[in-house]
Amino acid sequence: MKFDITILGCGSATPTLVRNPTSQVVNIMERYMMIDCAEGTQLQLRKYKVAFQKIDHIFISHLHGDHYLGLVGLISSFHLFGRNKTLHIYGPVELERIIFDQLKASNTFLCYQIEFHALINNSTELIFQDNILEVHTIPLNHRIYCNGFLFKEKKKERRLSKELITKYNIPVEMMPKLKKGEDPIGEGWDDLKNKDLTLPAQRSRSYAFCSDTRYSESIVPLIQNVDVLYHESTFLDDMKDRAKSTFHSTAKQAAMIAIKANVNELLLGHYSARYLSIVGFEKEAKEVFANVKAVKDGDTISIPL
Ligand SMILES: [Zn+2]
Ligand SMILES: [Zn+2]
Repeated sequence: MKFDITILGCGSATPTLVRNPTSQVVNIMERYMMIDCAEGTQLQLRKYKVAFQKIDHIFISHLHGDHYLGLVGLISSFHLFGRNKTLHIYGPVELERIIFDQLKASNTFLCYQIEFHALINNSTELIFQDNILEVHTIPLNHRIYCNGFLFKEKKKERRLSKELITKYNIPVEMMPKLKKGEDPIGEGWDDLKNKDLTLPAQRSRSYAFCSDTRYSESIVPLIQNVDVLYHESTFLDDMKDRAKSTFHSTAKQAAMIAIKANVNELLLGHYSARYLSIVGFEKEAKEVFANVKAVKDGDTISIPL
């Protein structure tokens, strides 16, 4: 029942020896989803032993190079590995041409399909769902069109236990309805309600990735009560004017968003290469919001049930 976030890169703009630019892999019950794919991401996948052939969905926040310049390389490697599953890519509309022009220039005909999902809306939208999971966009306030992504488990069914099944001799055909919360019907069941026969559903977990953005309270309703919020913090607060003029945020501003959105845990990242140490980021944010972690490349954050 995993819900793990692995940080492949937590730097901004240019790579440093200790920080690669942005990329993450979210593993939600063996669904491997990549967010952003900076230059060097393939090496990070190898270094941190992520099963990258399992990645079927890639979400690109925006078209600044530190968020997508590794994508065509990864697409090419999938081809060389003989991939045959469809790869779904979600990103700004211009990305489709960028990918296919590069493949055309090298006369590459992929041995698998790419299904491109163009993002053009300025309001939140549901862009992926299956039986357990939904992904929504989080429109951000950046220099160019940019989205964050909200990963949310769907509402779960109530649970049956061996003890209760045995105790009440619950017939198999009744089980699906009980899991959906319906009361039992039929002879002999009149005195019993659903809550007598089932256990509460497990909670639904959520993760919000907020890529490059100016401080913007417009995202607060979209990320309310998430378990984990990743919010960029390119600068410390003594550089808040620079943060504003470059459409970025400070660690303190990320913490203010975490408080307003009532999240459980805040992750900081996308640090400017000018900061050799990231100790100041966690310290600054902690003055506003207690449960904060300044992430490093290779960190894995697990959201428990
Ligand atoms: Zn960036
Ligand atoms: Zn950017």
